[in-house]
Amino acid sequence: MIEVYPKIFLMKGLCNNYYVDGKIKILIDAGFDFKEKVDILILTHIHPDHVFFAKKIQERTNCKIFIGQDDENIDEFLFYCPSWKGKEIEKFKIDRVLKKNDEINIGQYDFQVLQLPGHTLGSIGLYEKKHEILFSGDTIFENGLIGRTDFIHSSEELMQKTLKKLKKLKIKHLFSGHGTIK
Ligand SMILES: [Zn+2]
Repeated sequence: MIEVYPKIFLMKGLCNNYYVDGKIKILIDAGFDFKEKVDILILTHIHPDHVFFAKKIQERTNCKIFIGQDDENIDEFLFYCPSWKGKEIEKFKIDRVLKKNDEINIGQYDFQVLQLPGHTLGSIGLYEKKHEILFSGDTIFENGLIGRTDFIHSSEELMQKTLKKLKKLKIKHLFSGHGTIK
């Protein structure tokens, strides 16, 4: 685990995963077989490299799993994508579907849920206004790179709207789903 910001740790796995070690312990994405205490696992979107270990982590830590609205149809996801590199993706239980303007307050940080459809229809970001932090999932990356929209569950048109919306945000610390994080 690398501390990329006070109490925010990065673990590299199938994707970049982040652990926010607050009063409530949050794990962002499950592309890593995480073994510490987790209260809430937030999935930025339903893609195999971000959800692969969700079931294992849920069983081990008894955490709640949150996902964005329009990405909650796990049966459909598993129908199209039952495995990752030959390994079966285990079905996990979703406890809460996050909607626009939902907030997750963990004491030190106050995360606002942003709906960022495009890469998947239910992609979300977590924005921390005070510290100008954005967990962007696979929507945007460093150096202005943008997530792919050629998947079955993507929309180029919605991605363009999402990018316009993101341009208005003040982002000082971008923690994306892939790539190097300084
Ligand atoms: Zn993705």
